[in-house]
Amino acid sequence: MISDITPISFQLDDVMGQPIALRYLKNYTKHRDKIPPLLIFYGPSGVGKQFTADRFVKTVLCLEGTACGKCPSCSQFLKQTHPDYIEFPEGERIPIGEEKDPKEFSVRWLQTQRIVYSPMLSMYRIILVPDATKINTEAETALLKTLEEAPRHTRFIFLVEDIRSLKSTITSRAVLVPFHYLPKETVQKIATEQDIYVHEYQGGSFQMNFIDPEVWELYTTQVKNSLFDSILIIQLESWIKEHKTKHPEWKVDFDYKRFLEMISSFMIFEYSKDQSKDWSEAIESIYEFKEYLHKEINGMENFLISRLFGKLSLLLP
Ligand SMILES: [Zn+2]
Repeated sequence: MISDITPISFQLDDVMGQPIALRYLKNYTKHRDKIPPLLIFYGPSGVGKQFTADRFVKTVLCLEGTACGKCPSCSQFLKQTHPDYIEFPEGERIPIGEEKDPKEFSVRWLQTQRIVYSPMLSMYRIILVPDATKINTEAETALLKTLEEAPRHTRFIFLVEDIRSLKSTITSRAVLVPFHYLPKETVQKIATEQDIYVHEYQGGSFQMNFIDPEVWELYTTQVKNSLFDSILIIQLESWIKEHKTKHPEWKVDFDYKRFLEMISSFMIFEYSKDQSKDWSEAIESIYEFKEYLHKEINGMENFLISRLFGKLSLLLP
């Protein structure tokens, strides 16, 4: 009875600081027949979307409906061999796939080799897409057809930061589940339990935990001091651009795109915090910038940065 000596908790109750999302999801675990074909979890990185999705999926697939940890579904899930759970690899584009022999993790592969069959073990097959912005346009159109027909045994979960980066044809077919920045106390609690360093500036997210505190300090100070001044913001723009080639403080596993992601998150955080003016236009431009970053247009970063800062400087006094 291995499951008795190693009880691995995988309950939705493990999720902290996301009461609204939990309200939706717990309701669905009680009424599994009501789960819609597509759920979209949206909100900032590092606040627990994937963590929550893992627990939700385990509960829904569990033969008892409780994430019991003992049934065949739960044990397959823990071994990561559940036949009815498909998680798309993160960071890779999702293509439509060839008509003949479509490769694994393409939309046609899903349609012709997975969705057509009934689930093997659980009441549903669940397909998780960890970054829904990675679905390319053709693939999206093909997927829409599947969502329209709402396959009886298949349910989709998409994770995305900014809900506006998905087409309305997709979002209109989904139930949207909002995730928010974590309250300070929740961040502290998680950090203490898991022994992670948290900077007070972290802004309710664990997205940037891999950065060492001194670098963090350097970056946040740089951003904070420059955002609200029309001269300093130009210097911030150059500082960001220079980082493409000049970055002695980076560890090997860091790259320019992650740097840009991080700096834009700081910027969003600072503008959201400032009450002196309505910064929603600035925040929107930064989200738009992040969205283009995800589209991976190589070599376009400089252009995108200039365009962003052009817009921002117009908003400054
Ligand atoms: Zn179970």
